[in-house]
Amino acid sequence: STRDTDWPPVLTEHETILVNSFDNVTLDQWSNYYGHQNKLAGLGYEAAQWTADRFRENGFETRLDEYQVFLTYPLKQELSVTWANGTSEPVNLAEPVLEEDDVTGRPDNQPTFHGFSGSGTGTGEFIYAGRGTLLDFQRLDELGVEIKGKIAIMRYGGPFRGLKVKNAEQFGAVGAIIYSDPGDDGNITAANGYDHYPNGPARHPNSVQKGSTLFLSSRPGDPTTPGYASHEGVPRASHEDVVPGIPSLPLSFASAQPLLKALNGHGSTAAEVNRTRWVGGLDVDYSTGPAPGVTLTITNEMEEKITPIWNVIGYINGSNPEDTVVLGNHRDTWMIGGNGDPNSGSAIVVELTKAVKKLVDSGWKPKRNLVVASWDAEEYGLIGSTEWVEDNANWLTETAVAYLNIDVGVSGPHVDLSATPELHQIGGELFKKVIFPNKGAYNETLYDSWVRDYEGIVGVLGSGSDYTSFLHYGISSLDVGSGGGPNDPIWHYHSNYDSYHWMSTFGDPGFHQHAAVGQYLSLLIFHLLDDQVLPIDVQNYAVELRAYRDDLIEVIDQYGATIDLTDLSDAIEEFALRAEEVKKLEVSALGLHDEAQIQLANSKYRDFQRGFVSQGGLPDREFFRHVVNAPGLDTGYAAVTFPGITEGVQYDRLDDAKAWVSKTANGIRRAGEILHV
Ligand code: GLU
Ligand code: CA
Ligand code: ZN
Ligand code: ZN
Repeated sequence: STRDTDWPPVLTEHETILVNSFDNVTLDQWSNYYGHQNKLAGLGYEAAQWTADRFRENGFETRLDEYQVFLTYPLKQELSVTWANGTSEPVNLAEPVLEEDDVTGRPDNQPTFHGFSGSGTGTGEFIYAGRGTLLDFQRLDELGVEIKGKIAIMRYGGPFRGLKVKNAEQFGAVGAIIYSDPGDDGNITAANGYDHYPNGPARHPNSVQKGSTLFLSSRPGDPTTPGYASHEGVPRASHEDVVPGIPSLPLSFASAQPLLKALNGHGSTAAEVNRTRWVGGLDVDYSTGPAPGVTLTITNEMEEKITPIWNVIGYINGSNPEDTVVLGNHRDTWMIGGNGDPNSGSAIVVELTKAVKKLVDSGWKPKRNLVVASWDAEEYGLIGSTEWVEDNANWLTETAVAYLNIDVGVSGPHVDLSATPELHQIGGELFKKVIFPNKGAYNETLYDSWVRDYEGIVGVLGSGSDYTSFLHYGISSLDVGSGGGPNDPIWHYHSNYDSYHWMSTFGDPGFHQHAAVGQYLSLLIFHLLDDQVLPIDVQNYAVELRAYRDDLIEVIDQYGATIDLTDLSDAIEEFALRAEEVKKLEVSALGLHDEAQIQLANSKYRDFQRGFVSQGGLPDREFFRHVVNAPGLDTGYAAVTFPGITEGVQYDRLDDAKAWVSKTANGIRRAGEILHV
């Protein structure tokens, strides 16, 4: 094969200290520690303290930032089916305790449930609603399938789970069930001859994905304190508009199978529905139902609480206190384990603080402040990070250079990167400096593997992890992680089987990939902290803006709409000129060794993102105010670019779309003004 990178990678002295500091044996220890702690949001004080101790050991000033947030905990979860002949039986909700994953059976472990799900009991016939998207429900409606008063069974995948429940509720369902279909597991299925976990790489048939059902596309954070931090005694807003009113439960495919089978021959056939990804991998017809007289009773009782959560905040002050780089990772989990999500990231962050200590011990001092954060309550809806951003909004607006996020650092061999466009260059470049060990089989650079997997394309940030609040406060953001492809061992996301045993036998035996991802992140941080000129490439922002504009033109064509984008295009070209101006300033300042001018360019690189933040936010979702990218209204996770315009077109709100052409253009002009020399 051909390489377009140095082999072996050439590193500077500082880079070498960082990279050599990563030790797969200690990474294994950290993963093992986190994999045996109760870290459910609000119950993870010990793991917070332990994390703070590691940060302190490694020379970080460290404190616990506590917030009082609204959370819900499971009290009673039950599901039963009544067949047409009148007999009833319970449906199994639990994941069996495996010898390998004995944490599943610990008394402090939680049952399978959905965070923020509605309390109550729903009884009725049930229907299958595919992925549970708006389009899925609209299709059922068109076909005359009754949704009102029914319980909707939906499969995981595609949109964020909270939106599935939201859609079900909106169409009149009285309960929602979301199950993990083996049709989403690529080639690694029992049908293809693979044994299941723990004996093989296929999905355990009883594995269940827990998770939050907050209506994430409305706003993240504590639902009772929109826009301000959840300190003791603050006024509390109603949360009713952002959490479901109907009960919901997650389910395994083993439990879902007989229920779906009962729908065979009832309602509309899968062929009549004719929607993509409607048919999954179970041996059933995926008919819509309902089957007359076959009913489900879903019971979900949740305890509502305002309760403390703990962000661990470690920091090292830089010689220039006006610039701050923030690295964050969440610590909370739905279960005792969570070795992919997020313990892989947590172990990497602990190891990274150790690498920073080695560098500091060698005499290096950071130019800029470094904050390392271990967030609580990400799982319920990015709560710890959002409250912290709301709490520190002024200081972050003044000093934040970038926010780097790592959540699922390792869950499969394919390393991926998403970032705001000004970080694409540095993000891609530093992949070249890290050796990716491919489970010890052969070495290549992370860059080689990334280009093979993703063609070197950096993703657009949507939502689903803690960068969200930073991005929407106008801070350059980046998220690195990894996942499995269709031929890799199945990672049991949000299940008890995302365990230390899984990680050390299937996910990353030897923890070499943990080391590689950590090395990469340490280099990124180092350059953002140390480079004389910030590695923030504003010219690429202009390049991407043009690409997003071209995508938008396609969407407009596709929907047959007519919208004048002249204002937007003009603003993009003005921005491009400003970006060129500041680049010239940078080059000449470097040539003249003019430190003041270099600082001027740096401050523009740090601040320009603030311009993209719009007053008042997107239509009906005030929180999301970045004019260039946001999570899609009907995806919750996946990004949409120029969201105000694009979604106006997609949802037939042409007036909104038109108004957002100028709002978007204004945001781009504000960012350009900040770059103006
Ligand atoms: N990452 C978590 C999930 O996907 C939380 C996302 C959220 O609630 O914003 O379930
Ligand atoms: Ca808040
Ligand atoms: Zn996570
Ligand atoms: Zn998660």
